[in-house]
Amino acid sequence: MLTHAVQATDGAARAGVLRTAHGEVETPVFMPVGTAGTVKAMTADAVRATGARMVLGNTYHLMLRPTAERVARLGGLHRMMDWHGPILTDSGGFQVMSLAKLRKMDEQGVVFRSHIDGSKHALSPERSIAIQHLLGADVTMCLDECTPFPATEAEAANSMRLSMRWAARCREAFVPRDGHGLFGIVQGGVYPDLRAESVAALRAIGFEGYAVGGLAVGEGQETMFRVLEATVPLLPADRPRYLMGVGTPADLVGAVRRGIDMFDCVMPTRSGRTAKAFTRHGALNLRNARHADDGAPLDPDCACPACARHSRAYLHHLFKAEEMLGPMLLTWHNIRYYQDLMRELREAILAGRFEAAAAAIESGWNAAKEPAA
Ligand SMILES: [Zn+2]
Repeated sequence: MLTHAVQATDGAARAGVLRTAHGEVETPVFMPVGTAGTVKAMTADAVRATGARMVLGNTYHLMLRPTAERVARLGGLHRMMDWHGPILTDSGGFQVMSLAKLRKMDEQGVVFRSHIDGSKHALSPERSIAIQHLLGADVTMCLDECTPFPATEAEAANSMRLSMRWAARCREAFVPRDGHGLFGIVQGGVYPDLRAESVAALRAIGFEGYAVGGLAVGEGQETMFRVLEATVPLLPADRPRYLMGVGTPADLVGAVRRGIDMFDCVMPTRSGRTAKAFTRHGALNLRNARHADDGAPLDPDCACPACARHSRAYLHHLFKAEEMLGPMLLTWHNIRYYQDLMRELREAILAGRFEAAAAAIESGWNAAKEPAA
């Protein structure tokens, strides 16, 4: 079984160790997103060099291309992408709703057409679990419906209850293996009573970890934090807690403060490809002309290659010239920054000074004051 041992708490914030079939991961942890069997613009060695120890793979993308069966024939996702640490795969449900065409959803599952070639596919709780098994995921996620925002309380309730029935089917379909685990996903929109009902339903089924889903979909940071405050204390303390698809550095600090252990988001990688850098001194857009003659490093306190060996002026030039090294270097930097941020928070929790560290980090962000990309 996959386990999570809490080493220290500071307020609601936790530091721990997640143990999986592909090694241990210190938490809180940020997982870079390896959408289609690659963290875009990065070799697996480069991802590891940022300090990242666990990555995410997307079921929707991989089931369409190269297909889960082909990944399995190639030795599984770890071997195919040369990533030998833990991998978490999502269920495919979120991308079906956001990318696929002509969806039809019912109690059984969802039928959709590929956004790539229009071919017809079906995804059910059982098929999602089977695909994630073929990929070789250390952490498998339940298929759920990410409730749209905004949703009325009745809409959010119906959607959440469908996800809970699917969660029970996912539990049945999941094949227990040493070091592998299945995570349930709390839904219920912005409604605390529905979130509590969802937690109770998932706890009755029993999972190796619990994710909070359906957030960062437009509700705003304040509402997201309010939902976490209503939800996280209800989750079992001895299981890892994963906030899906979040977020900005400020979101991460606020969610760690509220007891979250695991994160994933495309933000550092996607932003890196569009010239946006997250730093200790705030976010910067390297396309901005003010960087054209700036010989200073992007972030003097960062040890990544973009900061240790290059100037802001060079990074600006790479993006202006549309050289692929620009996205590569900024992706490396952004992932490194997210890893450094998680490690700093973890060390602060272990030392019992989380709030002081968070305050110092937050005041540092106000230094840049440049309009974001
Ligand atoms: Zn850097």
